[in-house]
Amino acid sequence: MNSILDNNAALAAQVSDIAEVAGYLWQRGWAERNGGNISVNVTELMDKSANNLLAFAQVQLPGTFKALANNFFYVTGTGKRMRYVAAKPMENGCIIRINASGDAYDIIADNNIAPTSELPSHISMHNYMRAVKGRNTKVVCHTHPTDLVALTHKKEFLEPNVLGHLLWSMIPETRIIVPLGLGIVPYNVPGTMNLANATIEQLDKHDVVMWEKHGCLAVGDDIIETFDMIDTLSKSAQIYLCAKQAGFEPECMSKTQMDELAVYFKLPE
Ligand SMILES: [Zn+2]
Repeated sequence: MNSILDNNAALAAQVSDIAEVAGYLWQRGWAERNGGNISVNVTELMDKSANNLLAFAQVQLPGTFKALANNFFYVTGTGKRMRYVAAKPMENGCIIRINASGDAYDIIADNNIAPTSELPSHISMHNYMRAVKGRNTKVVCHTHPTDLVALTHKKEFLEPNVLGHLLWSMIPETRIIVPLGLGIVPYNVPGTMNLANATIEQLDKHDVVMWEKHGCLAVGDDIIETFDMIDTLSKSAQIYLCAKQAGFEPECMSKTQMDELAVYFKLPE
């Protein structure tokens, strides 16, 4: 079967990176059944012919997202499993094209696979990052990291900046690789715009957001680096839980030590 990737090496490389990360999410145990979803803005990788591709289906969006007009996204499919996205990304995901008004999208390749039911949330986040934050972030990734989700079951960790600072203080890398810390969104019904809007509020200050008793959502410029942020936070969570399991409270890096990193590595405020 022909694939849109056949004559577009840059797009094929991007989809290969997405498949690589989907495999990690599964291997890490963060993607049970069809848990998690990924969308990546691939507009800069598309060639002109993509504008003329016929649509399998046109779908209305629940709003107008002007900053994304005429943009293209790879999106994992609704009900699809990350372990299968890893093996066959174009049979478990699709390429969509947002229309010129930003209020609907076409499914254009390779198959008529409906995108994740979380697509309206993802689109509103992509639109927010571009239109309001003025950033060219391309990735929205949602997954269920076991250790990080476990920590959201403790009330005091849900206060602003408490969990983020704790995870920063476990190893220097976390302070460096996740410089904007961790946002927290109280429990909400999955898939709702309430959850999306609460997440967008947190994306004002953070690139990674924890959803209480559910999972995490990260935005980034690159799918591999977006995974790296979640992976690094997970590493910190494991060190914390490992110390607790061994029966002691970890000493944690001091605020002075963390501030010193911020200066040395010129981290954003
Ligand atoms: Zn989820």
